[in-house]
Amino acid sequence: MSFSVVGVYALPLRNRFRGITVRHGVLLEGVSGFGEFCAFEDYSDSESVPWLAAALESCSGSWPTPVRSRIPVNCTVPAVPPSRAFEIVAASGCTTAKVKVADPGQSIEDDCERVAAVRSALGPSGAIRVDANMAWSVDSAVAAIRSLDREAGGLEYVEQPCRTLSELAAVRKRVDVRIAADESIRRASDPMKVAVAGAADVAVLKATPLGGARRALEVAEACGLPCVVSSALESSVGLAGQLALAAALPSLDFACGLGTISLFTEDVASDSLRPVDGFLPVPARAAEPSLLDGVRADAETERRWLSRMERVAALLPA
Ligand SMILES: [Mg+2]
Repeated sequence: MSFSVVGVYALPLRNRFRGITVRHGVLLEGVSGFGEFCAFEDYSDSESVPWLAAALESCSGSWPTPVRSRIPVNCTVPAVPPSRAFEIVAASGCTTAKVKVADPGQSIEDDCERVAAVRSALGPSGAIRVDANMAWSVDSAVAAIRSLDREAGGLEYVEQPCRTLSELAAVRKRVDVRIAADESIRRASDPMKVAVAGAADVAVLKATPLGGARRALEVAEACGLPCVVSSALESSVGLAGQLALAAALPSLDFACGLGTISLFTEDVASDSLRPVDGFLPVPARAAEPSLLDGVRADAETERRWLSRMERVAALLPA
């Protein structure tokens, strides 16, 4: 597959995320348009192969046929005080909020207060989901989910309450709230073979680390659960491939976690993928990175990313 390098970007984040304050990635151009290689920096070369495949699908291949033209997105509420949580939700225009819970150093009371503030900002018809990022044991998950569900006046789902699939299955038997699997799928050595049925009601999928929209669509089909598409912190170029997945899923029952451009202070494209009234449009192709010159990485970072991409490209299946 032939492609050329457009450049390496450095996008500052508003808040530290996954331990970083600046996100980097390589922008590519091919016969179909543009693509973005942005494997997290702590990922090995072999773990980064699907990320490059996703970039090549975007710039040199094609996305699956869309069945919808716009995607509902959720706003994201970090482990902030209730007043800030209220502001974030009220300013977002979204009718679904994802609330971080079980953050280190915080109690279930903190989580309940945050969820209550989110409910008052959303009103009775909004949907609230919480993400525990594997933090709870089975017993503490059951107790916490019951409290949060009561405080929220009903939760849409709980994302990854515990670490393992068997723990998720045990929690799922004891609560009425839907369970969503995220890390269980994302970190699996073969996402096609994860037996999430029985352990979860919803699957969180990311096209970028799964090798592109077509490949992720196969994973969605194999897992047999309703899916939510979620960002891997791409620029607007890479985010387009995630929207392509969300647009192609046979059914989309939940808002997606793709309203993440606002986590950056800048973007690489003037056609920035920012939600309006809680929706993102589905683009036909990734936007041209016309603003790259304003956010180019320094020469050292560029060399490091290009040599990394070259090593990863050597591992691509022929
Ligand atoms: Mg998650």
